[in-house]
Amino acid sequence: MVLYLDQIERLLQHRSREHPVVSVYLNVTPPRNVISELNSLLHTTGKRLEQSGHFTRPQLRELERLFERIEAHVRENRERFENTRLLVLFASAEGLWQEYRLPLALPSRVVVEFDPYTRPLTVLLDEFEHYAVLVTDARKARLFSLYLGDFEEHPDVFVVDDTPTRPRVSVSLTRSRGSGVWGGLADTRIQRHVEDHVHRHLKRVADRTFQLFQRKKFDLLILGAPEDKILPWLKDHLHSYLQERLAGEFHARPDWNEARLKEEALKVAQRWERQHEERLIRRLLELHGHKDKGVVGLEPTLNALMLGQVHTLVVQHDFRAKGAACPNDHHLALEPGPCPLCGAELEPVDDLIDEMVEEAIAQNAEIEHVFTRHEGFSEHGVGAILRFTL
Ligand SMILES: [Zn+2]
Repeated sequence: MVLYLDQIERLLQHRSREHPVVSVYLNVTPPRNVISELNSLLHTTGKRLEQSGHFTRPQLRELERLFERIEAHVRENRERFENTRLLVLFASAEGLWQEYRLPLALPSRVVVEFDPYTRPLTVLLDEFEHYAVLVTDARKARLFSLYLGDFEEHPDVFVVDDTPTRPRVSVSLTRSRGSGVWGGLADTRIQRHVEDHVHRHLKRVADRTFQLFQRKKFDLLILGAPEDKILPWLKDHLHSYLQERLAGEFHARPDWNEARLKEEALKVAQRWERQHEERLIRRLLELHGHKDKGVVGLEPTLNALMLGQVHTLVVQHDFRAKGAACPNDHHLALEPGPCPLCGAELEPVDDLIDEMVEEAIAQNAEIEHVFTRHEGFSEHGVGAILRFTL
């Protein structure tokens, strides 16, 4: 099984001289007619490509076949887009075929170049934390990756150590068993022996986790262990970089099934994300209180965006608004009318917020989608932390 992040890495490295890559960003937010939108997008793109003269006959034929495959794929899968607002697809005749489903949307578009058009995707993906989830007891450890709801195991990091289990002291480390002075001493010795093994195991687990961190650079670490001394001991063994990245912990055993571990890890991740959102919104509202450092509400945010003032665009993920956009320079407005930049007539757009996110990406602004409700912000739907003031 290919891990999500390996997939992204491969995508970023993909280059070709002969085979063009089709990059599709398809807004599948209900109640859109996804299939007809895709068809008309592919149709116009095909026409444009033919006229452009950038591609040879065989390349154009190749692209036509890819378009058909993409259309068939979306048609077959459209029932399965729940929780998805944006479908991103990369395809080439060389065998590249990657799909991403995001809970955030952008305006639909199709781009054909000799490398994948990844920037909007990577900007949106940056918003999501990549967690490593380490579950261990005194002998066994498993490491998972949790990203965008995908929970996958790193099989190469699986560890089983030879901690002796026969005297089951590991579960009663603090309780003295044996009777009399001698029995107590023997127990103490066994206990220390077992503890040494456990520490060696945890040290190895901590080292492997750090190696993975150096290779993959996950953002945050979640720990799972049974309710005994394992968690504090493990934390002691963790590299300080990892200690700084702890998002939380839960009680579990490594031999639990994956679904159960995922559920527990998700709870920790959601708690962490909720806190992250709360900090962000508190900061935005504070800056909004100090004049001109933050804006809240559609009109002031749109104005700030059009003036290039937005440092971080903050969007309530399900907020929608209609508006208008210039077909020439992407100037955005609440109402149709003449474009103040080029004079052309602005065209109505169904979702102004998606257009604003796209514009923010083009301006290199940061984007934060908020998934839970926050008083003082959610009722306004959108806001921004500003770069500078006029
Ligand atoms: Zn214009």
